Amino acid sequence: MKVQPMPISPQPQLSSTALLDQAPLSPDEIDHLSELVAHTLGTTNDIILVQSEAIVALEAIAKSVAGPGIKAFNVVTGPYGVGFGNWMREVGSDVTDFAFPFERVADAEITATEILRHRPQIVSLVHAEAATGGTNDAATIIDAAHQVGAITVLDAVASIGAEPVLTDKWNVDVVAIGAQKALAGPAGMSAVSVSQRAWEFIDANSVSPSGSVLSLTDWRDSWLRSDRLTVPGLPNWLEGRALTAALERIHNENLAQVTKRHNAAAQATLAGMEALGLAPWQQGDPVSYAPVATAISIAGFPQLLALNTGLITQGGGVLGGKLLRINHYGLAASLDSVNTALRHLAHALKRDLQPALEAAQLAWDERCL
Ligand SMILES: *Cc1c(COP(=O)(O)O)cnc(C)c1O
Repeated sequence: MKVQPMPISPQPQLSSTALLDQAPLSPDEIDHLSELVAHTLGTTNDIILVQSEAIVALEAIAKSVAGPGIKAFNVVTGPYGVGFGNWMREVGSDVTDFAFPFERVADAEITATEILRHRPQIVSLVHAEAATGGTNDAATIIDAAHQVGAITVLDAVASIGAEPVLTDKWNVDVVAIGAQKALAGPAGMSAVSVSQRAWEFIDANSVSPSGSVLSLTDWRDSWLRSDRLTVPGLPNWLEGRALTAALERIHNENLAQVTKRHNAAAQATLAGMEALGLAPWQQGDPVSYAPVATAISIAGFPQLLALNTGLITQGGGVLGGKLLRINHYGLAASLDSVNTALRHLAHALKRDLQPALEAAQLAWDERCL
């Protein structure tokens, strides 16, 4: 039987040579990629490359830091926070989920006060919630965590590239990132930065995984603490090279410019959707709206339930039917993409598009790109 190649649309066709006939990643390539990740995160901490999407890195972190009797304080403002708490509970941790309604980010002052009272050993939170379009005040919460000596864990998958993630300045012990959101990179390799304090904490945890895909210490012991002449295992070379290319492209444009572009896209989206008579899903102060994606409340707009274009996606799980998201991240952090999304919304609502386009243009220009 002859098998027809399936076109990889809408991307340009990749040759099978480019896909198949590559050498494994060399030690130099691994070092270069790790330096790019560290630079992007603003850290001198160790970088662990995880051979899978970011959700796996997050489970690895949860199960490396948590364990029987370990007191964790997990800030919950969306579905990813719920999952992180459950992973820590699975390995016997004493987890307090400090939850806020999903249409708000965490009240940082209340959260900080609660951390000081609770005195946990671990504080975990999601920085930006792509699912609900909110960004938590990570600096304030992490500062409170350090006042009680807790290890801090930040899920920065949706914030990295869209807004500043200042790992060393905020003194975050463990940060997880993936590239398929604002970094416009591949989904299949993710990265974690780990501080010295966090390593000591993980090493003291008797149930922290090793010899496992969920281990953080395997890569440290077999690579970071080796002579670095032989790459351990067979890291994903396609994904690794794609991640390198994505980060090089980010830094060629300039990371600050990339975050500015995401902020402009978010502001243009807000202005445009408000001109169409729509309201943001987030109920708090607009400074807490995430630059990675804008969530729109669709209660009372059944005609928007059918919109699903990739750039526009419906809320999932408990958010289904309640919100839709404009995913203006990565290459879609552009006025063109924002306008495309507004066009879909105006069409579905049968409302005049022109005022929305003008509002979006004005908001975009104000961010002086
Ligand atoms: C997208 C996302 C993830 C999951 O990343 P995958 O790479 O899709 O596994 C985790 N956390 C947050 C906050 C995200 O937005």
